[in-house]
Amino acid sequence: MKNVVLLGSTGSIGTSTVKVAEDLPDRIRLLGLAAGNNSELLLRQTVRHRPAAIAIQSPDKAKELRSALGCSAEVFDGSEGLIRLATLPEADIVLIAIVGTAGLQPALAAIGAGKDIAVASKEILVMAGEIVMREARKHEVRVLAVDSEHSAIFQCLEDKPPDSVRRLWLTASGGPFRQTPRDRFATITVEQALKHPSWVMGRKITIDSATLFNKGLEMIEARWLFDVGIERVGVLVHPQSVVHSMVEFVDGSILAQMSTPDMCLPIQYALTYPERVASERVRTHFAGLGALTFEDPDLEKFPALNLARRAAEAGGTLPAVLNAANEVAVEAFCGRRIRFDQISSLVAETMKVHETNAGLTLESILAADRWARDTALRLVETVG
Ligand code: NDP
Repeated sequence: MKNVVLLGSTGSIGTSTVKVAEDLPDRIRLLGLAAGNNSELLLRQTVRHRPAAIAIQSPDKAKELRSALGCSAEVFDGSEGLIRLATLPEADIVLIAIVGTAGLQPALAAIGAGKDIAVASKEILVMAGEIVMREARKHEVRVLAVDSEHSAIFQCLEDKPPDSVRRLWLTASGGPFRQTPRDRFATITVEQALKHPSWVMGRKITIDSATLFNKGLEMIEARWLFDVGIERVGVLVHPQSVVHSMVEFVDGSILAQMSTPDMCLPIQYALTYPERVASERVRTHFAGLGALTFEDPDLEKFPALNLARRAAEAGGTLPAVLNAANEVAVEAFCGRRIRFDQISSLVAETMKVHETNAGLTLESILAADRWARDTALRLVETVG
């Protein structure tokens, strides 16, 4: 039985994780649940799964939850609440599925308390991959991938050392605009960008999948998770989303992990690793799939990939700047303040004026994150 703390239980990954826990009641106990704002769903999850503790952002909502639950679960609030959950003494693993950067400090707190972490929130590794992986080594805990691509690579690698890898191949569906001509990008609407061809996900990652920033963030995530230089991380467009990613080894052999897309699979693997546990959720019928195709991404149409590569090559605080500026740009696009094609130009502009801080500390990363948000917001006002 694993005691799991789930941060972001009310989101897309969070609710899939709850399903996995319901599939495996003898193996997974939801010990702690944290939500941002959705107190109704958090309450329902708490009544059903009886975690020892829960957390919600607003102190007022926490008060309401306390009176609804009596003493059946401890209720924490705010950022401190996330850290209290992430460090619960009985926790074995903390799954971080909070959108954006709010998961970074709870992730470091969990590692410091000797917990394994399962990371869906790729922003954490983009901002502070070097620090997170260093801390994990120091405290001898595992950082397990929840992202389907990184779970695929993890499954293919099977603990082979980084020098046995020629290249990691991240696959990308290509998003809804793979075949849209570039000159139409300026007129893409929020509704069009929110229709992903393969996956149903939260709003931010769905927009990131349309711009390919999601793949850019994943390149940096892969670089840190698997300790492979960014020049050895490639991207291939694979519209069927059946091959979740591949590892090309130095001898030329390539291993791929495949299945029809369902996030429950990588979530379950992260929570039951190193075991493989029977599940009926995913059945892949190859004959029905027809052809699996691959193509190079169009780097002109999707500047996010080169921006991410540049950020990873420069290192220091530039990846945090890319990540924060992208978050601001996505919000501005969803608020109809900038056009779709301005998301990547706004990120590029913010990166251009940033003076990269090479002396990497948590403080310098958080300062760069704040600086990038302010700078990108100012840019939104000038272009919007
Ligand atoms: P959603 O928007 O669906 O869910 C986000 C979750 O984070 C919600 O539970 C939300 O709570 C919670 N949250 C937001 N802010 C806070 C906060 N300050 N404190 C506590 N909880 C907070 O996002 P997804 O589930 O799609 O994505 C989550 C992460 O996983 C992202 O980093 C994404 O990139 C990554 N990911 C997602 C995949 C997917 O298939 N969806 C695939 C791979 C990675 P509430 O709703 O209550 O406000």
